Amino acid sequence: GTSSDLLTDDTKSYLKYSNIEDKVTALLNEMTLEEKIGQMNQYNGFWDFTGPSPADGESKKYDHLRKGYVGSMLNVRGVKDVRAVQKIAVEESRLGIPLIIGFDVIHGYKTISPIPLAESASWDLEAIKKSAQVAAEEASAAGINWTFAPMVDISRDARWGRVMEGAGEDTYLGSKIAVARVQGFQGDDLSKHYTIAACAKHFAGYGFAESGRDYNTVDVGTSTLNNIIFPPFKAATEAGVRTFMNSFNELNGVPATGNIYLQRDVLKDKWKFDGFVVSDWGSITEMIAHGHAKDGKHAAEIAVNAGSDMDMESYLYVEELAKLVKEGKVKESVIDDAVRRILRVKFELGLFDDPYKYCDEDREKETIGKQAIQDAVLDMAKKSIVLLKNDNSLLPLKKEGQKIAIIGALANDKTSPLGSWRIAADDSTAVSVLEGMQKYSGNKITYAKGADVTIGKTEFVSELKINTTDKSGFSEAITVAKNADIVIMVLGEHGLQSGEGRSRTELGLPGVQQELLEAVYNVNKNIVLVLNNGRPLTINWADKNIPAIVEAWHLGTQSGNAITQILYGDYNPSGKLPMTFPRSVGQVPIYYNYKNTGRPVMPAPDIVFWSHYSDEDNSPLYPFGHGLSYTTFEYKNLSVTNVSKNKVKISVSVTNTGKLKGKEVIQLYLQDMYASVTRPVKELKGFELAEFNPNETKVFDFILTEKELGFYSNEGEFIVEPGEFKVFVGGSSKTVLEKEFELK
Ligand code: BGC
Repeated sequence: GTSSDLLTDDTKSYLKYSNIEDKVTALLNEMTLEEKIGQMNQYNGFWDFTGPSPADGESKKYDHLRKGYVGSMLNVRGVKDVRAVQKIAVEESRLGIPLIIGFDVIHGYKTISPIPLAESASWDLEAIKKSAQVAAEEASAAGINWTFAPMVDISRDARWGRVMEGAGEDTYLGSKIAVARVQGFQGDDLSKHYTIAACAKHFAGYGFAESGRDYNTVDVGTSTLNNIIFPPFKAATEAGVRTFMNSFNELNGVPATGNIYLQRDVLKDKWKFDGFVVSDWGSITEMIAHGHAKDGKHAAEIAVNAGSDMDMESYLYVEELAKLVKEGKVKESVIDDAVRRILRVKFELGLFDDPYKYCDEDREKETIGKQAIQDAVLDMAKKSIVLLKNDNSLLPLKKEGQKIAIIGALANDKTSPLGSWRIAADDSTAVSVLEGMQKYSGNKITYAKGADVTIGKTEFVSELKINTTDKSGFSEAITVAKNADIVIMVLGEHGLQSGEGRSRTELGLPGVQQELLEAVYNVNKNIVLVLNNGRPLTINWADKNIPAIVEAWHLGTQSGNAITQILYGDYNPSGKLPMTFPRSVGQVPIYYNYKNTGRPVMPAPDIVFWSHYSDEDNSPLYPFGHGLSYTTFEYKNLSVTNVSKNKVKISVSVTNTGKLKGKEVIQLYLQDMYASVTRPVKELKGFELAEFNPNETKVFDFILTEKELGFYSNEGEFIVEPGEFKVFVGGSSKTVLEKEFELK
């Protein structure tokens, strides 16, 4: 378009309307087919917009921006760059429709929170919401108005590197956390400049990749799909999430990106989702490699008809859709529906009122890294830590008079704690464990690296090739350990050994860390093992031999401070595992809410014909929901009252029997003893996080209604069946009290 074509405030007919739907209709009526398709096109933008001219190969993107053929950009960040692209869209394209600016704000923008799996270990919905809220505040100050989060994929497979990005294995906890995150990012009012649109991803089944290998085939039955995979997505929809992302995988033979059942039948028709669906990166093109589409044009046709509204980086909508409409293969009404959804969200964000509302340099400067955000991520980090083991009360540490040796490359690492997905964060901005500990107390601290985890090439390199074999640092580690009262070993995964494309077949400590641990143990058994990792690990030897084990994940910017406060007992650990820790990789997928077989128990000693392994227990190393405190809790007086039809009240009393103030997550599980579709041995159906003074007793009432008592049939109907149920209560999925009741 030339400048004379540009619409002015007098010619923008949508300004006449006050209601968003009317505005969208008015705007749609003014758009050419090409401009409509433009809204469905999203480009990545890494080039320097403010430089002299766009780099070669990017000039097409620039040209498309001016023509109004781009609806969104991702990975453009910082007010200066966002303003530059927004200016082209708003001031140079005919209709001046603002861009929606997307970014992977997964666990913080520049100030990094714990990885999502770690946050989930807090079971603290308020804290998780707050963490998303401060991430939105910081990202929005940098020009971003849409995050590709939360990832709400349930996964039971620690081999899959992206478990770090989700809420773990449980659909009930995962649903609550999905809601907390959506509310945190979006707030009550999307039009505020400090809130951003959220995105429930990846729809659907991505966490069930066969063999835990990322992007792999997914083949799951209806019952798992309806009862395990869908609920967090549905909960996000009910919480008003404005966008969805589809997934790379095929689901039962049809790629999710081209899946009518998922995107139209379930999401848009059944759940009445009125936001838009973005494809995953290049996932429309990937349908060719999947063996589902003949070529790019065919892929675009399948994707749009299946309800993928926006094309992330396949370049296919912008190239092919107009042709497909003219040939009658795609109805213009399908395009209109997609564009309506996208425009709706842009209006809701307030982008039409002020396209530069996220582009305030002063706010950017004041907001990023500010103290209140540091405080929030520190609080979240403390709450995310799980005390796995603490024999002989080795922890908390004494504050004075101790010689403490700190060992492990990860103890002195200021980058790894940031974990995977921290694109905007500056490297080496995390507080390391060593820094945290050195700052703290009257104890004498010595440090030895012992061994590196990797040889340093972690970005975009397969981790199997990068684990170090160098043991030359062992002798120094042994020397400092010998001279110490207590040894703190910080071991685990490099921050980029989990995440997208980081699947593993071994789940032990990578590299020579296990050998290092054993070598140190031989000279000093007073070891506190602090794990930094993005997934459950198989740490049997450590569990047997090391007296204290602290699961500290990849905790973000404030990592070292949080770990130090936990080790000294300034914060009494309250985290509980959101994912089962296996004893052996061969047990994976292992999860607490499994189904009974027809042969669940050993019939007699030495009889082999029951469902088990001959070389390993069925039980996990640490069950879902496990986590200790520096105090202890006792559960008593479990009672069940049938209140009315399909309504049951469960009460239990919990006492802090230790000497310290502490928090406990009271967990309630349910078993439907027999049903038309078999039910798991137990399923989480309620929890409460509560703080107790020493000797304090509190009574907890849980009301179970149809929502908790029912399940989805294989026809996808939600049903409640009368009969016998069992309720279990405790501080982990290995519960301590149980009672049967009958639902009439
Ligand atoms: C990931 C998405 C992410 C997108 C954009 C893809 O590779 O699967 O989760 O949002 O990239 O960065």
